[in-house]
Amino acid sequence: MQRVQFPSLNATLRTVLLSISLASGQAIAQTLPLAPDLIAFNSSTGAELLLESEAKQDYWNLSIQFVTQINQAYCGVASMVMVLNSMGITAPEVPQYAPYHVFTQENFFDNPALRRVLAPEVVARQGMTLDQLGQLLNSHPVNVQVYHGGDVTLAEFRRLIAENLDQQGNFVIVNYLRSTIGQERGGHISPIAAYSAQSDRFLILDVARYKYPPVWVTAEDLWQATATVDTSVGKTRGFVLVNPRTGSN
Ligand code: CA
Repeated sequence: MQRVQFPSLNATLRTVLLSISLASGQAIAQTLPLAPDLIAFNSSTGAELLLESEAKQDYWNLSIQFVTQINQAYCGVASMVMVLNSMGITAPEVPQYAPYHVFTQENFFDNPALRRVLAPEVVARQGMTLDQLGQLLNSHPVNVQVYHGGDVTLAEFRRLIAENLDQQGNFVIVNYLRSTIGQERGGHISPIAAYSAQSDRFLILDVARYKYPPVWVTAEDLWQATATVDTSVGKTRGFVLVNPRTGSN
């Protein structure tokens, strides 16, 4: 009787997995190195933190909708596109995908109500503030709560965000100063996908995917990074909670 050649199959699998590993390693090498206090999501520790997290409901939908910001000032737009698509909010039709509808960073400002809040040309030049992020979200059928980092304690920050991450159908977007968490360098916006109580860390799905991988950052560091002043408006950064609007789609 001929024996099945498991060893050669295993060797083939190993070769394939090694190739995938090396290919991804080359891609990741293009991102900037991480500060020691941050844990890369694509590390064994980073993966374990997600598996053990009890507040990761938002990760699943956000991971399906995860996009790279299309220019270096569109972090807020990319974050909103991810959240609105994750919530199933009625989106514009996309000609190349017709008859399908989806929010993209290109069609986000097709809605005149949004352009009345903020012109896309302005966003492309200088990004947006936390309050503008809230106003743009408010132009959709969602309920938005804006929290400035300087107005909440660490305990409130942790509780409000972790509670949301444990619930399906609502989402968190954070506006923080990168340099406070050891990254380069200015203000940034991205969705938060999970909370690890064991390590007291949040997982940020960083939309500047060409620059950094998703990272696990301590609650205290992220809170401090949101309590920094956005000098364009003289207010602290912060976060928004986005919930379905009662009676809407
Ligand atoms: Ca949630």
